[in-house]
Amino acid sequence: MRSKSRPCPSCPDNSYVSSSYIDELVEAKKNSGIDLAEEEIYRARLLICSDCDSCLKDMVCMKCGCFVQLRALNKEGRCPHPEGNKWMKLVPSSETG
Ligand code: SF4
Repeated sequence: MRSKSRPCPSCPDNSYVSSSYIDELVEAKKNSGIDLAEEEIYRARLLICSDCDSCLKDMVCMKCGCFVQLRALNKEGRCPHPEGNKWMKLVPSSETG
C-alpha cells in the first residue's frame, strides 16, 4: 500500500481509529445479516483501494471518507471515484456462470 499521511478532510487532525476497532466494525457488519460481497470480490476491492491515489494510509477513502474495509463489504457497493468506479471490473463469480 502506498504511504500517504494527509489527514482525512472530514476529520480533525488528532482523530485516530485503531485497526482493531475497524476489525470489530467489519465483524459486526459480517454478522449483521445484510447482503455482503463475496470474499473474493471483497479482497480484490481492497487491493484496488490499497493502490489508489485517493486511499489514505489507514485505508480511508478521500472521495467519500469511508473506511474502505467497510465500504467494500457491501454487496452492491461501488467505488465513488469521480473518474469512474474502480471496482467496476470486478464481477462476482456467481454472475459469470
Ligand atoms: S473506494 Fe475507490 S476512490 Fe476510494 S480508495 Fe477505493 S478505489 Fe480509491
